[in-house]
Amino acid sequence: MEYRFKSLTIFEFQQRFSNEDSCYEYLSELKWGNGFVCPQCGHTHYCRGKRKHDRQCTSCHRISSPTSGTLFHKVKFSILKAFYIVYYVSTSKKGISSTELSRKLGLRQKTCWLFKKKVMKAMESSGNNKMDGNIEVDETVVGGQEEGVVGRKNKKKKLVVFAIEKKGRGVNRMYGQLIEHSSAKELGAFMKSNIELSANIKTDNWTGYKPLAKDFGNLTQILSGEKGGNFPELHRVIMGFKSWLRGMHHRVIHLQSYIDEYCYRFNRSNMKEGLFENLILRMVNQRPMTYKQIIV
Ligand SMILES: [Zn+2]
Repeated sequence: MEYRFKSLTIFEFQQRFSNEDSCYEYLSELKWGNGFVCPQCGHTHYCRGKRKHDRQCTSCHRISSPTSGTLFHKVKFSILKAFYIVYYVSTSKKGISSTELSRKLGLRQKTCWLFKKKVMKAMESSGNNKMDGNIEVDETVVGGQEEGVVGRKNKKKKLVVFAIEKKGRGVNRMYGQLIEHSSAKELGAFMKSNIELSANIKTDNWTGYKPLAKDFGNLTQILSGEKGGNFPELHRVIMGFKSWLRGMHHRVIHLQSYIDEYCYRFNRSNMKEGLFENLILRMVNQRPMTYKQIIV
């Protein structure tokens, strides 16, 4: 895949975020730029808290920080390093491993892995912008030895359903979802959250898609063809995902996060700028994640 987006250079990034203060100021602006609202009582007046960037509600006295209630909540290391992780994740063309982040930033690998999972959470599809027009849907198997994943433990194969939105001869957007079975129920749930009901959808002849024609009025089933020959763009996208996964991650646990990360990058590969800003904003708008939620 070709990535052409222009992003913040490391020099620009370092000028803009030279210390912790500048990070907190940036988060405050995103969080409270349109005015302060107390998360506890909804009051809109505040006074300064003990710490420089905290705000205290003048009605119930609850203290809010720029990071509270966001994915930056309770980050145990410097906020500046957290910004660096978001920067590296957003600007590296093919993603960056937690081992490499650990080396660059002098943090433990586990620490980087946990925080990167939060960044990946922010990369999840919001579901607000469903795909429309010409859509293709198909399932594929990920993992297992035929994918070059070695080791006995990794024999487990996983089923993933992918959908693409076509644009001319190319692909505009893609989404993917890990599923247990290729059932109408699971395929339908994925399609309903990512595709408009009126879209022109093409699937293969699999029986699981048949009942979905009730909801999706323009669903057509055709033969898949040899090795998916009738779905060339979709299969190219799937191959691209699989080769990225092989190159980046040697295990297929937490597969959904990797699918989300890949789709996020793919869907923004034409975005010329603003990837870093987009990710930080998404992190501010997301609820915090607990350790338990991260490791499931
Ligand atoms: Zn309050």
